Amino acid sequence: MAKVYYNSDANQNYFTNKQVAVIGYGSQGHAHAQNLRDSGVDVIIGIRQGKSFDQAKADGFNVYTVEDAAAQADVIMILLPDETQPKVYEQDIKAGLQAGNALLFAHGFNVHFSQIVPPADVDVLLVAPKGPGHLVRRTYEQEAGVPALFAIHQDVTGEAKELALAYAKGIGALRAGVLETTFKEETETDLFGEQAVLCGGVTSLVKAGFETLTEAGYQPEVAYFECLHELKLIVDLMYEGGLENMRYSISDTAQWGDFVSGPRIVNETVKGEMKKVLKDIQDGEFAKGWILENQANRPVFNAVNQRENQHPIEVVGRELRKMMPFVKQQQTKKEVVTVA
Ligand code: NDP
Ligand code: MG
Ligand code: MG
Repeated sequence: MAKVYYNSDANQNYFTNKQVAVIGYGSQGHAHAQNLRDSGVDVIIGIRQGKSFDQAKADGFNVYTVEDAAAQADVIMILLPDETQPKVYEQDIKAGLQAGNALLFAHGFNVHFSQIVPPADVDVLLVAPKGPGHLVRRTYEQEAGVPALFAIHQDVTGEAKELALAYAKGIGALRAGVLETTFKEETETDLFGEQAVLCGGVTSLVKAGFETLTEAGYQPEVAYFECLHELKLIVDLMYEGGLENMRYSISDTAQWGDFVSGPRIVNETVKGEMKKVLKDIQDGEFAKGWILENQANRPVFNAVNQRENQHPIEVVGRELRKMMPFVKQQQTKKEVVTVA
């Protein structure tokens, strides 16, 4: 078993006399900043003028431009969207880095794919919560936490690991358990998970099931409940106790169907395709496509997004959810759409 770090593994005093700057105040940013502050860490925010700026002010933080915050801080956590990080780093962060400072990320993409190449005299590490930002905050307030990974890319001070664990403690992750990884492993497994299973795999599975039923003449409302709504109930059981717990709760008929039909749906061909998806991630093909797509102002992203939002499962779902006030819309749109 890999070593799992918990609260007692962190140096309580690491942040004494250290200034932390959280750059960005979105899903992860607001959560890290507020959790660190509640853990007694001195945190400032670096953010452009706009919605997040106003929110950070309203939440009582000292808020600066990205440039000023980066220049003042000893520890700089970059929590901007991955696709905007390289430009903001070049323009507003790089010049403020001093020897012995630490540059932190919550995802390895830009360092692993060389979109950001930090100077050789700073520590570079990642602390990546394995959960959406709003849960990082909510669980912290409940005396719990979201698990996280940490990785060290450069350790010039010899204190990078101590910092990673102290930071993970500050955001509450050590309450749940923290594992050491590499930038490569974090980046590749994160991208694979969201593409093959959590986001891409699940949305395609749900849509294919819905389409199969409705094309066979069944009512879209019934298909929606069966293929989308009920998924959460099943996943909750898996989350609480693994596949075994879920299978304990469903009927034996459902469990038999799981055993005989599941492998026909996600068969060797599908698994072969997963391996190709993984290879594209490992080779940098996926990263290249996404970087170019952003440089072109996202023509494909926007077109597919529009089409997806008009899929019949979305149309029928919007209507049905109006009648289910207990199915609360999440706190923010971001929380619904992001996965660690
Ligand atoms: P968000 O999109 O939620 O937040 C982005 C923040 O950056 C906002 O405060 C936004 O401000 C600000 N911003 C955007 N563009 C600029 C710019 N050009 N200059 C200055 N500020 C800017 O990001 P996430 O929290 O989702 O992601 C942050 C990092 O965390 C990423 O590396 C991501 O991979 C990682 N991560 C995210 C997870 C998640 O659950 N979302 C999970 C684990 C890791 P404004 O309001 O002005 O737009
Ligand atoms: Mg059933
Ligand atoms: Mg991700």
